[in-house]
Amino acid sequence: MNPSPAEQQLVIVSNRLPFIVGRDPAGRLEARPASGGLVTAMLPILRQKGGTWIGWTGLPEKDDASPAALAESVGWPGFAVVPVALSDEEVVGFYEGFSNEIIWPLFHDLPSFCEFAPSHWDYYLRVNRKFARAIADNAAPDSLVWVHDYHLINVGSELRQLGARLRTAFFLHIPFPSIDMFMKLPWRQSLLRSLLEYGLVGFQTLNDRRNYVQCLRRLLRGVSVSGKGQVLRVTVGDRHQAVGHFPIGIDFADFAHRAAAPEVRERAQALHNLLPDRRLLFGVDRLDYTKGILLRLRAYREALIRHPELRQRVTLIQVVVPSREHISTYFDLRTQIEQLVSRINGEFTEPGGWVPIHYVFRSLDPVDLLAYYRAAEVALVTPLKDGMNLVAKEYCTCSIEEDCVLVLSEFAGAAAQLRGGALMVNPYDIEGVADAIYRACCMPEQERRRRMRRMRREIMRRDLFWWVSSFFNAVNKEVPHELQTNQSDEHGAMADGENPVDAEPGDLHRRVG
Ligand code: UDP
Repeated sequence: MNPSPAEQQLVIVSNRLPFIVGRDPAGRLEARPASGGLVTAMLPILRQKGGTWIGWTGLPEKDDASPAALAESVGWPGFAVVPVALSDEEVVGFYEGFSNEIIWPLFHDLPSFCEFAPSHWDYYLRVNRKFARAIADNAAPDSLVWVHDYHLINVGSELRQLGARLRTAFFLHIPFPSIDMFMKLPWRQSLLRSLLEYGLVGFQTLNDRRNYVQCLRRLLRGVSVSGKGQVLRVTVGDRHQAVGHFPIGIDFADFAHRAAAPEVRERAQALHNLLPDRRLLFGVDRLDYTKGILLRLRAYREALIRHPELRQRVTLIQVVVPSREHISTYFDLRTQIEQLVSRINGEFTEPGGWVPIHYVFRSLDPVDLLAYYRAAEVALVTPLKDGMNLVAKEYCTCSIEEDCVLVLSEFAGAAAQLRGGALMVNPYDIEGVADAIYRACCMPEQERRRRMRRMRREIMRRDLFWWVSSFFNAVNKEVPHELQTNQSDEHGAMADGENPVDAEPGDLHRRVG
């Protein structure tokens, strides 16, 4: 049984529930916990304090699960799970359409990939309304409702229209674009006003926050901004909002621990045995045009031309993880990547076994991913634009000997934290990236260690639990309890210090540990 709303305090809302849900051959529902930063950070808190997670199961309409069937298939997770069902046409219009063919490319500075179909907006509104209704039906007045990411920006407006006066916060996991880019959005006013509805809005980087504040100033009247540091206060008419930047981290201790396992070391060693006397360069990305895979491959080719001494002495392992294959641009991108890999291999492969690119198109088993991280002397993380890029942080964390090099795009959110240690590149500058690849391969050991140590220290300091607790601290400080009333006992409010949003970083570590 799910707990009643009265027992809940924290309500997490994301496009997908934290479970991968499917059906077995007999048609029975199967669910297992999903991976990813948000799930890793939130599950321990929800399990300990209770709460609610609202999201889509990911199941097609014909297979959709009733809330009761879903609750049964996930067992008792320790918190309430509220599925939001989407029809097939909603998946196309809201998820594939507005979210992934409009906001995703536009917010990653790639407007030419946008498909500005007006009907996509209608579906976005419709599905955001569904989510808002699920929130209004399941959140107690003293709940903190934490909404995640670009799929659900409009939930803010929908909650207001439903008259639900709740403490709300929003975190955008992807970049927020500059004003020139945002202006292209036909629905820019509505979307911006909806973001303004949340008590706190968090971004990955200072640059994203600046872009948001600039959009507010340009598109709305009477905007005033005060404060300094990580969190600012914005006032527009009668709306008050806190706006901060909170770079998402990874579970450093867990990654470093798992990377040190004998099984991982053995698999990493086996890779080197298969490719003896080579420097291994590694790239792993979801199939996505924002990841800059084509330009990276061209830069690698350029490196082999400009620095022929690299031939036979380096191998690039490029893993591409299938993603959004229903969208035609993703399907086309796969073809282009595979043609380019094969062109480069055709051009440079030499008798004696050297193949310049080992290409993998599938999702990796977690131990294999760690083994690749550990085996590779150089990681190439060169997105055209990225909210954060966790691969960059995971790679450094797994470099437990602190003897590897990260080549990093200046347009990844992670660049703000790692620029002191990484070799920074402009992913559009093919010659520049080629030279950075060469430099990474030739870097003296002392420099490699100094740079890697610096990055690992930063990643450890601002890990996943720092991210959650700094966000919650900002909520506690900046977002008033709009309905802080005598009803709180009636609604099962916890005593001081028991609220999940009071967690200290150490506390969170202990819970996970
Ligand atoms: N990853 C994965 N399966 C794989 C390869 C990678 O789950 O086969 C994970 C990887 O560990 C990382 C995430 O996918 O946590 C990618 O996150 P990132 O922020 O780099 O990019 P995103 O795909 O979220 O845009």
